[in-house]
Amino acid sequence: MEIVTEPEAMQAWAREHRRPDVTIGFVPTMGFLHAGHRSLMDALRPRVDHLVVSIYVNPLQFGPNEDLDRYPRDPEGDAALCTEAGADVLFMPTSLYPSGFATSVSVHGLTEGLCGASRPGHFEGVATVCARLFGLTGCTHAAFGEKDFQQLAVIRRMVTDLAIDLQIVGCPLIRDDHGLALSSRNKYLSDADRNRAQTLSRALFAIQDAANDPRDVSRLRALGAGMIDSDRLEYFEIVDAASLEPLAKLTSGRPARALVAAHYGQTRLIDNVAVEVG
Ligand code: AMP
Repeated sequence: MEIVTEPEAMQAWAREHRRPDVTIGFVPTMGFLHAGHRSLMDALRPRVDHLVVSIYVNPLQFGPNEDLDRYPRDPEGDAALCTEAGADVLFMPTSLYPSGFATSVSVHGLTEGLCGASRPGHFEGVATVCARLFGLTGCTHAAFGEKDFQQLAVIRRMVTDLAIDLQIVGCPLIRDDHGLALSSRNKYLSDADRNRAQTLSRALFAIQDAANDPRDVSRLRALGAGMIDSDRLEYFEIVDAASLEPLAKLTSGRPARALVAAHYGQTRLIDNVAVEVG
């Protein structure tokens, strides 16, 4: 596996490898890799000729009081995981943006609710870094996890709207044995908070089970929110799975998604499940 640290070198690699008959898979990450990230690599590896993984903790997507400075890092462990997954290139730039960088990508509508409501500028940072990384890697396929369900929707919208010639592959959310969604940020949790955080997935699964009765969303939300043990529940929403608009009622044949964000001390966790009736 080749390790590339300069954006120019990444782009030179892409120029050398991109041809009409060649596929390049790409997995963008912020590192401290776990089985959730690995599942994205495993989803792409059999489909593409070359697999590129990036690790970059993108300052543009962090707010002023968020965890940019203490985001967990493990470059050696990450490189070992990428090698094992059969990655051809690990792109780990120390800086990503050229001097004079003046562009940002805003996806409207989809970014207003859920995480967008409490993290102004976050999805603009995500869309902007992804657009630049897509350009640098020359990828034909890119994998994103349903763990970040709103992010996946935003990236799909951006790729469609800007006619970026790229297939987005959405991958299922990976959990630990207790149902906790795998996240690099789980490292911050005390044992007690890790136990309490299991109530997030329990609440979401309860919504899945209860979705047929009642179908009234405010009662389902109250049921789910009431099960969560956290320091601060930021949101518990049931939305249309495509538009991310809040729903008043669940309807058979209309895919919905239940999503939660909750805080444990300084740590903010998110989780979500598909909800269907009938
Ligand atoms: P991150 O390093 O947190 O920016 O995540 C990089 C990619 O891995 C994103 O597409 C995430 O949605 C995905 N990812 C993170 N955790 C999981 C998980 N538990 N299951 C599936 N995908 C995940």
